[in-house]
Amino acid sequence: MVAINLDKLELLYEGKAKEVYKTGSSAAYIVHYKDDATAFNGEKHDIIFGKGVLNNKISSFFFELLKNEGVPTHFIRREDDRNQLVLTLDILPLEVIVRNIAAGSMAKRFGIEEGTSLKHPILEFCYKNDALGDPFANESQITAFGWATQEQLDGIKAIAMKVNSILTTFLATKNITLVDFKLEFGLHDGALLLGDEISPDTCRFWDSKTGEKLDKDRFRRDLGNIEDAYKEMLFRLTGEKA
Ligand code: UDP
Repeated sequence: MVAINLDKLELLYEGKAKEVYKTGSSAAYIVHYKDDATAFNGEKHDIIFGKGVLNNKISSFFFELLKNEGVPTHFIRREDDRNQLVLTLDILPLEVIVRNIAAGSMAKRFGIEEGTSLKHPILEFCYKNDALGDPFANESQITAFGWATQEQLDGIKAIAMKVNSILTTFLATKNITLVDFKLEFGLHDGALLLGDEISPDTCRFWDSKTGEKLDKDRFRRDLGNIEDAYKEMLFRLTGEKA
């Protein structure tokens, strides 16, 4: 594997945990995973050495799994420790959250004890806008504001539920409970594709036996051993010891 030389590429976008670069092809971008960790809409920030490598490997693993199960995604291949080659996307300004167990902001908002199982998965949409703190948006608002069409929303809902079912089933075999996660979608040549990342930064993973948190809540809640938790996730998924 030859490492990508980012100096030769044009930076298109810099996010909190990733950078996106243009490539020689108008159809593909390089996504570069950084070590930055942020929470609470950027108020809390730290560098977790090696996190970018772990998330790149974990996210690549999940996207390969989903691709093999027929989920349409932007993922082409992992290039090296920190970089992925992906199809270009016009990202829809939505955060799509799927929940199997009450946790985090939802548990708090409704006064439901964290860890309560749900009778069926919950799907939530937020408008992706840091300045506004990613507010909730319902389907009527999303179509009325023009952030997505009803057809796109129907596609998003079907894909999100399929991703939930594939990941929940797979993770159960690794003794991991998939509590909740966030997805983002975009359009490539008009086709709706799953984009962004799937990693401990964007999912809640709990050890099925002990309930130990193996995700970004270790950072958000100052639980310590963040890197070890991400390493444990990579190990359970791939057998690789980081
Ligand atoms: N999430 C995310 N990015 C966000 C907000 C949420 O990746 O900007 C993920 C988060 O890691 C969790 C799920 O979406 O797996 C639900 O998060 P929640 O709404 O409970 O928000 P939080 O408690 O993190 O504020």
